[in-house]
Amino acid sequence: MPTALEQISALQHKLYALQYALNCIELDSSTVAPKKGYTGRGQALEELSRSHHALLTDSGLLALFAEARTGTLTQQQAAELDELERQYNETSRIPADEYAAFSRLTSEAVTVWEQAKATNDFALFCPYLEKIVDTRRRFAAYFDPQKPAYDVWLNQFEKGLTTQRCNAFFDQLKETITPLVAQIVAKNATPPTLATQWPVAEQRQLSAYLMNRLGIDSGHCMIGESEHPFTAEFYKGDVRITTHYHEADFLSSMFSVIHESGHALYELHTGDTLQYTCLAGGATMGLHESQSRLFENCFGRSLPFLQGILPEIQRLFPSQMEGVSAEDLYRAANVCQPSLIRTEADEVTYCLHIMVRYQLEKQLMNGELAVRDLPAAWNAQMQEYLGISVPNDSVGVLQDIHWAGGDFGYFPSYALGSAYAAQMVAKMGETLDLDALLLQGDFAPIREWLSERIWKYGKMLAPDALLHNAFEGEFDPKFYTDYLTKKYSELYDLKA
Ligand code: ZN
Repeated sequence: MPTALEQISALQHKLYALQYALNCIELDSSTVAPKKGYTGRGQALEELSRSHHALLTDSGLLALFAEARTGTLTQQQAAELDELERQYNETSRIPADEYAAFSRLTSEAVTVWEQAKATNDFALFCPYLEKIVDTRRRFAAYFDPQKPAYDVWLNQFEKGLTTQRCNAFFDQLKETITPLVAQIVAKNATPPTLATQWPVAEQRQLSAYLMNRLGIDSGHCMIGESEHPFTAEFYKGDVRITTHYHEADFLSSMFSVIHESGHALYELHTGDTLQYTCLAGGATMGLHESQSRLFENCFGRSLPFLQGILPEIQRLFPSQMEGVSAEDLYRAANVCQPSLIRTEADEVTYCLHIMVRYQLEKQLMNGELAVRDLPAAWNAQMQEYLGISVPNDSVGVLQDIHWAGGDFGYFPSYALGSAYAAQMVAKMGETLDLDALLLQGDFAPIREWLSERIWKYGKMLAPDALLHNAFEGEFDPKFYTDYLTKKYSELYDLKA
């Protein structure tokens, strides 16, 4: 008879294998699978998800965990038990039929949302979103009836995060970002113009060059193409990223590749002993986004990094780059302008887009806003935060997939990630000459810094402990507002 710990290890291997298969299907369906074959993929996904759910909600698990805890445990074994028990508690609180119904609802809702977005028809999507909001509110009460529903979901993505902490964080950001954007807008600067034809074949070569420069081993990480860029991780020896090439604008894919490479590096550097356990991979959404944003914005959109890669860009695109200096590229990569679409927003206005979503989803979850009133509320918030009017729902309330997929409380992670990244850069800069490393493309010391403090731990340490490792102190959003103020005051020649 295998011991409790052996059974728990075997359970994790099974969960890993099922997750591996689920990831394969999802990666395949977003990249090369024929679009009309979704029925069969959906069938396979449902069966595999059901098996995954059944393994995690097995009624014998609690006794097994308790038995395992009677022996002496290593730090990792204790962390594995905590994580599995957390997953068991969460999954088993939702009745199996309600869980399955919600999976079906969100997968239908995503298809309807795509249609509604394409045809600017919120009314089509509205009944689905109403059901999703109702279900999420009900599920929140299963998890913790004492807590406001929105707090339950915030805590899902960032352990320990509450509405109160979020309010304070966003208030602090708003205090700096709103006047900063107003000053930039008042400058009325003409953005630099680049060529409008960038052949995709050369863009593909640039992607390979960038991944190599950041230190990604192509033997362990491949790049594919999809509508929206993403990262899919299998284990530390196999991570995939995707990008989307736009012929008219090479910067779009270039920064996507750097962003997803940040996610990939995190996964590729998970500690060896965590493989095939529930502790492998990034700790939280906010931490994952901190790594992608660190690479994309703090490193990728910096002048020294762009100076360093200029010769390669010139080699690949000699005619397009004629007369374009590193400084021109730097300005083109950092244009700040209030706009409609979150995913295309610049570093400064990005958080304002998040605040709009934060305010609205908080009200939806807490029952203060009805779904049918959402488009009008969206438009009013966009006016308040970004000073722009929304011409239609396709480029307004229907632009993001998150709510259709049932994800509430996810958006704040993006803003937190940006703020974490800025504080990491400040800390790193105390011991590393970042400008020189970025110029030379020498990322080894940077990877080592991140690996030792964050990457290698996977989910073994609590998110707060990982942040503490990185910052050698408490999280402070002031590093982020200072970073933005300094960078953009110089770029736009603003008075202090
Ligand atoms: Zn990301």
